[in-house]
Parts: sequence; C-alpha cells; structure tokens
Amino acid sequence: MPTLKPGQNLLLNNRLWSLWQVTPREGRRLDLEAIGASESAQGMTRRLAAVQYGLELFIAQRRGGYWRANLEHDWQETRSGPILEFHPATRLDLLDCHTQTPAQGELPNVFSWSYSRWAKYRTCSRAYYYHYYAAWEGWQPEAPEPVRTTYLLKNLTAIAPWMSTLVYESIRFALARLRAGQPIDNSDVVAQMHRRAQADFESSKSGRYQQKPNALIGFQEHYYNARLDASVWRSAWQQAENLLQTFLNAPLHADLQQSPASTFLDVETLHSFTLANTKVWVQMDLARFDGQTIEIYDWKSGAIDAAEVQRQLGVYGLYIRQAYPDWHRIPMKGIVYALAKDETIEVELNSTTLEAVETEVKDSIAEMRRLLTDAEANLTKIERFPMITDLTVCRTCQYRELCGRAENER
Ligand code: SF4
Repeated sequence: MPTLKPGQNLLLNNRLWSLWQVTPREGRRLDLEAIGASESAQGMTRRLAAVQYGLELFIAQRRGGYWRANLEHDWQETRSGPILEFHPATRLDLLDCHTQTPAQGELPNVFSWSYSRWAKYRTCSRAYYYHYYAAWEGWQPEAPEPVRTTYLLKNLTAIAPWMSTLVYESIRFALARLRAGQPIDNSDVVAQMHRRAQADFESSKSGRYQQKPNALIGFQEHYYNARLDASVWRSAWQQAENLLQTFLNAPLHADLQQSPASTFLDVETLHSFTLANTKVWVQMDLARFDGQTIEIYDWKSGAIDAAEVQRQLGVYGLYIRQAYPDWHRIPMKGIVYALAKDETIEVELNSTTLEAVETEVKDSIAEMRRLLTDAEANLTKIERFPMITDLTVCRTCQYRELCGRAENER
C-alpha cells in the first residue's frame, strides 16, 4: 500500500510543503512534519495530523475539516517533481471512507438484524448509517475524531427515553429477583432506581460520560447545551417513580409474584436466532409459560402504535418458535402493559401473524443488505443513506451535529 515518504511535496491550500518526517502512529494515524516551500510559507515548519484509509489520505485542518488526497490519482507532475495536491474535505468524507474500509481491530462489523435496528432505519436512513456503520471502532482512542464523535453521539440518550429505560430496568431488576426466588421489597426497587438516576444525572452533568460513552449516561440535553434545569429533572424523576409504582402495585405484578419461578422463561436477556442467513437479536421484557400458553410481555411508557407492537412482539414470537421447537403447537400471545394507563393490551401471535412478520423481517434484511457496497465485509458508503427532510425529527436526533442541523446549539 503506498504511503507518504520524507522528501515528497504536498500542496495544501495553495501552499507547498516539503515533508521531512513521516511517523506512523497507532491505527490509521500518521504524524507528518513539513517545511514550507512556497513563497508565503518559506522555511516555516508545520506538524500535520494525518489519517490514511487505503489510498485516501486526510490531513486535519486547524479550524476543523480536512484536506484530502488520493495517493494514486492526486499527484501533479511539475518541473520540480511530483506534488500531491490536497482538496478540502469534511468529517462526513472521512466517515464515508471509514465505512468503506474493513475494521482494523479484532471485532469485525458483522451484519445482523434487530427490531430496534429496523425502527432506526425506518425513522432516518442517515441516522441508521451513523449508528451501525460510521460509529464502528469509535471506542478506540486512536480512531479519527469524526469516528469517535459519532460513537459518542451514538451513546447519548435524552431525558424522555432515559426515564423509560430507568423504569424498564427497575422492573427487570424486580422480576429477575422474583425468578431467582429472592423477591425484593417495592420500596427497595424504588430506592435503587433513585440511586441509579442520581448517578446518571451526575455523570452527564459533569461530562464524565465523554470518557466512557458506552458505560456512563450522557444526555443530549447536556451535550447540545439545552436548558436542563432542576424542574425538568425533577419532573422526569417523578414520572419514572409514578410509572414504576404503577407497575409494582398492578394486578399483573401481583400475579407474577404468585407464579412459580419455573414459569418464567426469560427476563430481558439478549438472545439471537437466524433468519435469511442473518443473526437476529431479540431482548424480551418477559416471557413465561404457565403450562397452557406462552406469554410474551412488553412494557410501554408512552403512546402505543398497534402495528409496531404487532411487529415487535411478532419478532419475539419468531424467536420463541425457533428456540423451543417442541412447543410448536402451544398457543402464544403477546401482552403489552401500558404503564401510563395501567392497562394491558393483548396482541395476537398466531401462525398467520407470525408469517406476516417473518415476511416483513426478510424484506427488511434484503433491503438493508442491498445498501451495502460489499455485502461480505458489511461495508457501505454514505450517499446511500440520505438525510430526511422532516426537521422536527432532526430537532431531537442525537446526530444533528453531524448533519449540520444543530446550529447555535454547540
Ligand atoms: S439530524 Fe435528521 S437527517 Fe440527520 S441523522 Fe438525525 S434525523 Fe437523520
């Protein structure tokens, strides 16, 4: 693979520089040291931070953005020898190269499918691209800045979804204890949620999440400097506590407390099964079998879209059918518990509805795979994932900085 060498000349922003040192660093990074060779920069020395993806070379500009050149096509023959001519480029250009190049680390980005991936794709294909391609390897300290930033944005949450997650995780905690035969007092569940909420808020407010974006909570509101005063925080916390109390005091919870632990098939564990040669990930809130019917539960804190719920629970039903083939004839149903209304809604999961969901999932897998430039290596390019025009969605999207739709926020 060609790379830069001392003695070569670079043309950056109409200024000529002569390289006198090229030092490979970790990952794709190169440190360059150059001496000005044109009249305006004669004798000046400059350190340049470069990133190389195959033949594409990016040099970071001082005020943001990049200079870019192709090591095969951007050489100019001049009387004083060949010169590599750089052109202005953006962070998105670098991300585009990143997603067309296989991962460098031990973890390849393998194509898989999940209901949440599908939902992200249907909301905005560009957000899907950032989430599942551009952010890959952004956890590595030596990854280029746009990749690390995309990974940071990927891990941001916002107050409303965080509040729901807090409640779901507390329910999971209570049910996991029930399943293990070690029930826990309702007051302890609430107290545990409170401690967790305070820790999350602190890690976000202090900015500590930026060091460990996948382990600590960071709120979009803090990242984008939105107003997040104490009243917003108090009302989110109050809502979380109300929803959790609703569940803990509901007849459904009482019923679960009376059920033998052996009837619990699963409480929010990550599982996978295979469909259309693709690994499909599922994580059910709760599944149980009372000897008569298999029940798949899902907790919802907000408005319920019947078609979406049918799809989501249908995917879980497909998993159950593969994971427990001997139970093929056992009836199955979905139960959605709407926390805000304290009501349960039944979802039909029979062979007809499951077949319809299976067809939709297979179509979705085929559509997502068609967007790849290299299906084997799961590589793709940004131009296949257009931005949406509905700016109301962008206003609360964690990726709005990358799309240039966060003006005046940072
Ligand atoms: S800011 Fe808008 S266009 Fe960009 S990823 Fe988010 S939703 Fe899509």
